[in-house]
Amino acid sequence: MHELSLCQSIAGIVRTHAAGRPVARVHVQVGHLRQVVPDTLAWCWTWSTDGSDLAGSVLDIEEVPVAVHCPTCDAHTVLHEPAFRCGSCGSTGVRVTAGEELLVTSLELQER
Ligand SMILES: [Zn+2]
Repeated sequence: MHELSLCQSIAGIVRTHAAGRPVARVHVQVGHLRQVVPDTLAWCWTWSTDGSDLAGSVLDIEEVPVAVHCPTCDAHTVLHEPAFRCGSCGSTGVRVTAGEELLVTSLELQER
């Protein structure tokens, strides 16, 4: 499952940064181009961390919309539909600048 392998890579990042300290909450940014279903990702997190050192931690998912940059007119456009064109001049020669993220943005550690 796509989400399960994502959870495993997130868990790897979290363990590196937590360095053995208990984790309460994990904030992640997931780009729309990743085609991740947030509810499925959250469920996978609970399931795959159950019984591990990360059991009980909450995955807090922020979805990042797709954004593109147009080299023709230098406009930045946030896309709400799957049409990869510049929102300013209509050029399709745009570069994706957001939407492919899978970032662990912060951790909240438990008080001991
Ligand atoms: Zn443009």
